[in-house]
Amino acid sequence: MIKKGKKLHEGKAKILYAGQEKGTAIQHFKDNATAYNNQKKSIIEGKGILNNRISEHILFNLNQIGIETHLIKRINMREQLVKLVEIIPIEFIVRNISTGSLTKRLGIEDGTVLDKPLIEFCYKNDNLGDPLVAREHIYAFGWANDVELDWITKQCLRINDYMQGMFKGIGIKLVDFKIEFGRFNENGKKKILLADEISPDTCRLWDATSDKKLDKDRFRKDLGNLFEAYQEVARRLNILHEETNIKPVQFGKLRSIKNRK
Ligand code: UDP
Repeated sequence: MIKKGKKLHEGKAKILYAGQEKGTAIQHFKDNATAYNNQKKSIIEGKGILNNRISEHILFNLNQIGIETHLIKRINMREQLVKLVEIIPIEFIVRNISTGSLTKRLGIEDGTVLDKPLIEFCYKNDNLGDPLVAREHIYAFGWANDVELDWITKQCLRINDYMQGMFKGIGIKLVDFKIEFGRFNENGKKKILLADEISPDTCRLWDATSDKKLDKDRFRKDLGNLFEAYQEVARRLNILHEETNIKPVQFGKLRSIKNRK
């Protein structure tokens, strides 16, 4: 069993613990759901389990096509062993269809299919509400240099290409998503790895025929059945094993079995 070290960071949906080996960490997926910069909060039982499994699947597959990620392996229902990276404080948003903050900010009609993917940069800072920034801000404040940013931008497009195809194959439109990258020193060689998570918490996923939302917008917009939607994504990805197929505990039934004695 891999032992957890001290807590390094607690975010809105995950906790990061130090790993046993230097340069590693354990990423724990919580059931907390938050939106609108933490103004809306709830607990969705089992969400963390599904996100752990879905994110593992996507990052593993990206790794198979040569995109290096922080993922080492999933270690249990809620946790994965990862490489401990220094997170670049930028959220990279990739969009294929206009929705969410883009429609609000620029008045673009919701659902407009973009001619080519649009990449946006947001400064990772909850107190400021993760504001949109330009490349020039990123250079001016030393968050990343031009070589890093060019490389990351190319990775974003490769990741988008792969994920769009993967989801298309299972009848899902990849509307947009957010990814993060981190710096890692591997045997003296500096690398930039895809980090954090890719899950229905960080992507917008619409059913290809009905446009039904299968992502965190169900929570943001009070549409209900968020867990079922995430389960549907896992089911279509063919990764919904027994352990992620959580059913509510039937207390009544348990009690009646006990009473039979
Ligand atoms: N996103 C995210 N974390 C954030 C902000 C955005 O994972 O802190 C994801 C979000 O789920 C969506 C995409 O990035 O898939 C674009 O989000 P947008 O900028 O439209 O944000 P919102 O509408 O949530 O303000």
